[in-house]
Amino acid sequence: MTERIVIIGNGMAGSRLAGELHARGGDRKVTVLGAEPHRAYNRIMLSTLLAGKVGEPDVELAEAAGQGVDLRTGVSVTAVDRASGTVRTDDGDRVAYDHLVLATGSRAVVPPLPGLDGPRLPERVVPFRTLDDCRRILAVAAGARRALVLGGGLLGLEAARALAARGLDVAVVHPVPYLMERQLDPAGAAVLADTLAGLGVRTHLAVAAAGVVADADGVHLDLADGRSLAADLLVLSCGVRPDTALAAAAGLAVDRGVLVDDRLRTSDPRISAIGDCAQHDGALTGLVAPAWAQARVVAQVLTGEDAGARYRPRPAVTRLKAAGIDLAAMGDPGDGGTGEELTFADPARGTYARLRIRDERLTGAILLGDNPAVGTVIQLFDRGQPVPADRRGLLLGRSFGAAATPAATPALMPDAATVCRCNDVSKGALVSCWRSGARTVDAVVAATRAGTGCGSCRDAVAGIVGWLSEVESVEVTR
Ligand SMILES: Cc1cc2nc3c(=O)[nH]c(=O)nc-3n(C[C@H](O)[C@H](O)[C@H](O)COP(=O)(O)OP(=O)(O)OC[C@H]3O[C@@H](n4cnc5c(N)ncnc54)[C@H](O)[C@@H]3O)c2cc1C
Repeated sequence: MTERIVIIGNGMAGSRLAGELHARGGDRKVTVLGAEPHRAYNRIMLSTLLAGKVGEPDVELAEAAGQGVDLRTGVSVTAVDRASGTVRTDDGDRVAYDHLVLATGSRAVVPPLPGLDGPRLPERVVPFRTLDDCRRILAVAAGARRALVLGGGLLGLEAARALAARGLDVAVVHPVPYLMERQLDPAGAAVLADTLAGLGVRTHLAVAAAGVVADADGVHLDLADGRSLAADLLVLSCGVRPDTALAAAAGLAVDRGVLVDDRLRTSDPRISAIGDCAQHDGALTGLVAPAWAQARVVAQVLTGEDAGARYRPRPAVTRLKAAGIDLAAMGDPGDGGTGEELTFADPARGTYARLRIRDERLTGAILLGDNPAVGTVIQLFDRGQPVPADRRGLLLGRSFGAAATPAATPALMPDAATVCRCNDVSKGALVSCWRSGARTVDAVVAATRAGTGCGSCRDAVAGIVGWLSEVESVEVTR
């Protein structure tokens, strides 16, 4: 009998799972129920869309289509009935499943402030999570001069930088004494704040928002210290919360996210959860690389391709996607305790670097400003390899010894080095792809998916293809 797999959510995890299942063929029917009315899109790229660097067609994701896949957009699942193995939708339908996958993602947190407690947010106050949010921000920004962003985390800063690039006067309000406190330390964050100021983004730190007053003409953000900031647009970037309501109502085990095991099974073995809504081994992910890795594991298990497949989390690396700011952060930014700590700061040039090393392994790093060693540092962190004796080369991005850093030339990169973290594509996989006939960057990207997530590895992929074109064509003509 045809197996029926139902996926709730057509976001980055759900759409990828549909693609993974479709690619494996077999006698099964996959139904994707997505609340958003759009085709699946690359949520990560919304910052780039907001900045005007790409258009809406550029953020669409390739979708699984054709026989065996039934994609229904603009349809919300309202309940899961585990006893009958069906889900109910807001258009009155009931869809039966043999296996159900929750890929409901997260929702933007709207802070409980006076002025934001009504059934609808005021016209000029917009969270930053969905394509519709992005469209609304752009519509309000079109007639605006001043914008405020509440929240100085990664997404808040990406939104602020994007709006400044559109010519708005932008200020960020952050309740913590320094920006991006989950990824940075105070010294690095101070350099980042200076860099942002140079790009037209002011920051108000260590001050909480106390209320919002908004009407058709503008918005005032009242602060706990008595000030009130006026603007034409207020973007809310106050974190996200996993969307677990359906799972909880269905009686599945839920903590901050829906609890899953290494196979991404929830407390009901007929139901899996992946992506932002899932909590694995005590951790939420909130990033696309784990969501896509989880989608692959579920596809392998459900299709029987590899019944033993297990999800193994990898340490996260954060990169800011904002023109004019190069920032990579990994590991815990807190006090490293024992071990080596190397720091270099040149605030006038917007440069800050910090490496934390224990037992010859990198346990954390912050690299702000143009640093050619960033690829090498990420690789060392990722793979837990011993750190070279030339620490200064890593810190400053220059080689003080005889050897060039591996990042300086693809030739020195080990084959196992991860180039695209979102899709887990190694240099070796790119080389094999090139050797099997893909001769352009686009062809290599299409075959391996490298560069189709956050896009930060596109230059590296192009560098490897360029290097292969030179080296391998010389070898072929010899
Ligand atoms: C602006 C921005 C920039 C980002 N940048 C990065 C980055 O650089 N790197 C990175 O790794 N991550 C980044 N992220 C985070 C990344 O986008 C998420 O981790 C990823 O989207 C998670 O995928 P998901 O499918 O779990 O959730 P989502 O992409 O949120 O998709 C969930 C989908 O489920 C739908 N849904 C929910 N409930 C129901 C229901 N009951 N019925 C039907 N459908 C439902 C939702 O409408 C939504 O479409 C960024 C996020 C944003 C907003």
